[in-house]
Amino acid sequence: MKNISLLGATGSIGIQTLDVIEQHPEQFRLTAISFGKNVEKGMEIIEKFKPRIIAVQDKKDAEDLRMRLGGQSLVYYGQEGLIEAAVAREAHILVNAVMGSVGLVPTIHAIQAGKDIAIANKETLVTAGHIIMELAEKHNVSLLPVDSEHSAIFQCLNGENAQQVDRLILTASGGSFRDYTREQLADVTVDEALNHPNWSMGAKITIDSATMMNKGLEVIEAHWLFNMPYSKIDVILHKESIIHSMVEYKDGSTLAHLGNPDMRVPIQYALTYPERLELAPSKRLNLWEIGKLHFKKMDMERFRCLKLAYLAGEKGGTMTTALNAANEAAVGLFLERKISFLAIEEYIEKALEHHEFIEQPTLEEIQAIDTHTRQYVQSLLN
Ligand code: NDP
Ligand code: MG
Repeated sequence: MKNISLLGATGSIGIQTLDVIEQHPEQFRLTAISFGKNVEKGMEIIEKFKPRIIAVQDKKDAEDLRMRLGGQSLVYYGQEGLIEAAVAREAHILVNAVMGSVGLVPTIHAIQAGKDIAIANKETLVTAGHIIMELAEKHNVSLLPVDSEHSAIFQCLNGENAQQVDRLILTASGGSFRDYTREQLADVTVDEALNHPNWSMGAKITIDSATMMNKGLEVIEAHWLFNMPYSKIDVILHKESIIHSMVEYKDGSTLAHLGNPDMRVPIQYALTYPERLELAPSKRLNLWEIGKLHFKKMDMERFRCLKLAYLAGEKGGTMTTALNAANEAAVGLFLERKISFLAIEEYIEKALEHHEFIEQPTLEEIQAIDTHTRQYVQSLLN
C-alpha cells in the first residue's frame, strides 16, 4: 500500500491521479491533498477520499472548510499549507500536480523529508532545476516523471549508460494552431487557443502547447531529469501524439515509446515504478486503426517560444527562472484577454532582455527573480 500526497488535486492531472487511486484501492491511499480555489470540487474529493491533510490557497476557504469538516481533517492554507500537505508524515510519494512555480518550495520540503516525487509540475524544474536535482541526489529521493514525454524517455533509457545515448527526441503535437502561419496567429482568440486537438489539460498548459512554450519547458525539464546537454535534445512535430518521445543511441538504434494519449498511464507508472499495472485491452493502442503516423521538422521561427526556451536553457542560471515567470505572467494576461496571442512571446522576450542574470542563483535569488519578472511583465501592459 502506497500513501499518496497530491498537490493540485482539483486540476487535470490531479483528477486523473484520483482516478488511478480510485481504480486501485488495494495499491494506493490518498493521505493529503491541496487545491487552489475550486472548493466545490475539493469537497467532492474530501468526501470520497477523506484525506487527513487538506491545503487550500486562501485563508477564508480554510476557515470555512474547518467549520464544515469539524475536525475530520487538518486544514491549512497558502504556501505553508502546500508544505504541510507535501510532507505529510505517512506519505510515501508526493504527486506534484500544481500549476506553476508555486510548486517549488513544497517540492523542496518534500525532498528534504525523504519523499519520492512524481513530478508533473514542470515549472519547478524549469525555474530551479539545479537546486531540485542536487537536493534529490543528496536525500536519495527518486524524481519520477509524469509528463508523458519524460515518462517515455525514462522508459526508453531503461537504465542504460548515458554514454550510449546520442539524442533525446521529444515529440510535439503542435497544439491548437499547428497548421497556422504566423500571420494567422495575429488575431486568434483565447477560446480557439484552449481547443487542443489531442489532450484535455489545464488552461495554462493548453496555451503553452499552442505557443510551443510547453515543449520549450519540456526541453529544459529533460535537461535536468536526464542530465543531458541541450545540444542532445531535439523536438519533432508528430501530430498524432502516439509516439510520446524517443531515445536515439549512438549506433543509430532509436527506441520509441508508444501509447494512446492518456495521462493516467504515465501517472500510474510514476506511482508503481518499477512495477506496471494492467490496462484493459480495449484501452490499448490499436496501430492498424491508426494506420499512419506523421512527422515534421520543427520550425523555430514559426514557434519562437521554443527557440527562446533553448536560448534560456543554454544560458542557464536565472535565465530559465525569468523565462518561466514571464511565461506564467504573460499567459495569465492572455487568458484574462488583456493581451494578444503573439504578445505572449513578445513579453517573454522583453522580460529575458530586461532581467538581471545570476549564474548560480540561490533559492532566495530565484524567488526574487520570479517575483520581479512577473511584476515587469505586468508593467508592460501600461
Ligand atoms: P490545472 O490548471 O488543471 O490544475 C492546477 C491545479 O493546481 C489545480 O488543482 C489548482 O487549484 C491548483 N493551483 C493552481 N494555482 C495554485 C496556487 N497558486 N496555489 C495552490 N494551488 C494552485 O493544471 P494541469 O493539471 O493541467 O497541470 C498541472 C501541472 O502538470 C502543470 O505544471 C502542467 O504543466 C503539468 N502537466 C499537465 C499535463 C496535463 O495533461 N494536464 C501533462 C503534463 C504536465 P484550483 O483549480 O482548485 O484553483
Ligand atoms: Mg508533455
